[in-house]
Amino acid sequence: DRLISAKTADYEDVQDRAIRPSLLADYVGQPSVREQMDIFISAARNRQEALDHVLIFGPPGLGKTTLANIIANEMGVAIKTTSGPVLEKAGDLAAMLTNLEAGDVLFIDEIHRLSAAVEEILYPAMEDYQLDIMIGEGPAARSIKLDLPPFTLIGATTRAGLLTSPLRDRFGIVQRLEFYNNADLTHIILRSARLSSVHIDEAGAFEMARRSRGTPRIANRLLRRVRDYAEVRADGRITADIADLALNMLKVDDQGFDHMDRRLLLAMIEKFDGGPVGVESLAAAISEERGTIEDVLEPFLIQQGFMLRTPRGRMVTNHAYQHFGVVRGEVKGE
Ligand code: ADP
Repeated sequence: DRLISAKTADYEDVQDRAIRPSLLADYVGQPSVREQMDIFISAARNRQEALDHVLIFGPPGLGKTTLANIIANEMGVAIKTTSGPVLEKAGDLAAMLTNLEAGDVLFIDEIHRLSAAVEEILYPAMEDYQLDIMIGEGPAARSIKLDLPPFTLIGATTRAGLLTSPLRDRFGIVQRLEFYNNADLTHIILRSARLSSVHIDEAGAFEMARRSRGTPRIANRLLRRVRDYAEVRADGRITADIADLALNMLKVDDQGFDHMDRRLLLAMIEKFDGGPVGVESLAAAISEERGTIEDVLEPFLIQQGFMLRTPRGRMVTNHAYQHFGVVRGEVKGE
């Protein structure tokens, strides 16, 4: 599997619990999100109201789930967690909604994957705290209305554009998470190292930070692997040199790219002459799903200036040619 994949593996959940921040003050970076949420949470708490519904979007691993949990914790309410694909039927959502206490948070990850039938139930629930549901089938079917306690829906999605507009419009608060800068990632790595008793110096943390694709989940995962390397091949302390050696061995390059990033950029250079190329053709060329390219691979490559999204398709930039030492128009062999 991909070392720098932004998805969580199950075993990581357990290790992660110890280092996942639970207070807004410990949420590193994202200054504007933090400042706004601090105000909205304090205001709702003072009025003893449920917080307005919150939509959080951003690529995987940037801290959407973490932020949802922090919001519930700071509001002093319980959080129930589910996800778009898990809520198959209207009844699945109805069951979750009727189990909420006043003020509770319902967190729906991958909210863009809700079925139309489930989404319909969500509209009146979000707007008027009303559950409108059909019971039974055929001639015996009847619709019932139930009052729900005031609650906060927090939805997470990788891209805001994936949501239908009636759903998007029902969120009073919309937060977009950005890739983290190196200083923030260094801070996250030093914090995680401290909480898991890993010896690391600032330069070692920085070396890993700048190769973490702007993503806290990847930074924490690299820390675990580099720690292994430091314990087996050195005295257990992570310095810049040890981090560099370990990351090279793990095939995470100087830019934090792994084989998938390299494959994507090289396919664009070698097979499509730098683009423009449609995302479907690109997906076929590297045997990846289109969604993985759009959600996981390209957001970082675009942000770093290695590729562009144009109306005619994806293109690589001169930066990418330089990174691979290829001269435009003069494609080197495989
Ligand atoms: P997402 O839901 O966006 O995929 P997560 O919330 O699961 O991402 O974040 C992945 C991990 O990265 C978290 O478990 C947490 O340990 C760490 N993390 C995310 N955001 C932050 C942050 N702002 N500060 C510190 N650690 C963070």
